[in-house]
Amino acid sequence: MTWLDRQSFLGAKSDERLDAATVGLVGLGGGNSHVAQQLAHLGIGGFVLLDDDIITLTNLNRLVGATLEDVKAGRPKVEIAARVIRAVNPTARIVMRRAKWQEVGDLLKGCDVIVGGLDHVGSKDELEAFCRRFMIPYIDMGMDVTPLPDSWESLVSGQVVLSTPGEPCLRCLQLVTEERLKAEAQRYGVAGSRPQVVWPNGVLASTAVGLVVQLITPWMRDPPRSAYFAYDANLGTVAPSDRLARRRGKMCPHYPAKTVGDPIFDVRRYIGRLDQPAPTRALAASSRVRAWIVVVLTCLRKLARRD
Ligand SMILES: [Zn+2]
Repeated sequence: MTWLDRQSFLGAKSDERLDAATVGLVGLGGGNSHVAQQLAHLGIGGFVLLDDDIITLTNLNRLVGATLEDVKAGRPKVEIAARVIRAVNPTARIVMRRAKWQEVGDLLKGCDVIVGGLDHVGSKDELEAFCRRFMIPYIDMGMDVTPLPDSWESLVSGQVVLSTPGEPCLRCLQLVTEERLKAEAQRYGVAGSRPQVVWPNGVLASTAVGLVVQLITPWMRDPPRSAYFAYDANLGTVAPSDRLARRRGKMCPHYPAKTVGDPIFDVRRYIGRLDQPAPTRALAASSRVRAWIVVVLTCLRKLARRD
């Protein structure tokens, strides 16, 4: 018996797949603090944790795993997340940096999935572009509180999007727009003290973790390559958005196929993975490996024909 026995329905060797997988968490605020905790319970083995911030008193209303002592100590958010993960799974492989992800982007290149908990539209746009280039599935979470005019009530909403190469991107889905980028630039990228609260973050994070499980385990026979779940906290619903349905079958004009891939790709990085008995790596990683094998074999065939 293992600590993951109750989730064996996720499929054959799902424990090994989850343990072999590495998930990058960019931004360890409210949303990704839930994601880190849940992925630890799921048995994810590898983590890359990136956030340049420390915890402050106003984070304590939503940062899962944080304590008042952490606030007094001014502890980095990545350290709090790492502590939560290690308390569940002491053998987890954790790489963490208190830094902006753009400064340490190389650490993310080996991830099988990346989950973004970023406030700024510009940062989401940059992280998605990075993920597209390195063919890594990207899951984006976002939450908004909108005061209703002439009312004391506020609308609490959010969305979780799975973005993979060839599928609709955040620009296709109108989550990144030039207007939003411009408005943010005029505020010098400062999001300000936006309203944030714990339970919508929990709903969005759980939805994101479900997508991670779909990507890594054989739980679903044919999981969708893209997803857009819209959350309405006032109605209490999470539902697929028709924004994605409207984009089905249409090419993403923002990330053409020729811009995908790493121009300094080194096949030796993947040889170790290929030697491992299948299926021990995450689905995302193996699909990347397959894509590159096709490219390498095609080049070799062309060279052979020239001889
Ligand atoms: Zn697009």
